[in-house]
Amino acid sequence: MDTCEFQPCSLLIDLNEKRPALLKKIKEKYCDSDFSACARYMVSKALGPGHVSRYLFPGHVPEACKIIDEFNE
Ligand code: SF4
Repeated sequence: MDTCEFQPCSLLIDLNEKRPALLKKIKEKYCDSDFSACARYMVSKALGPGHVSRYLFPGHVPEACKIIDEFNE
């Protein structure tokens, strides 16, 4: 099974200490399965991990598209 190449991203490191239950859910839903649907993955792949805000969550796909579009304008 493929997993996200950006593991562990800064969100996972953060959640590991603060919200381990949420970390487990995110890993199951995104990092270890459907990682290409993760907003953080999308920005990391398009622009590099340095462009991913610590506040961007995997479900924030519209925000990810906006970040990528604005960078490419
Ligand atoms: S799938 Fe998303 S949350 Fe998971 S490691 Fe990759 S970039 Fe981070």
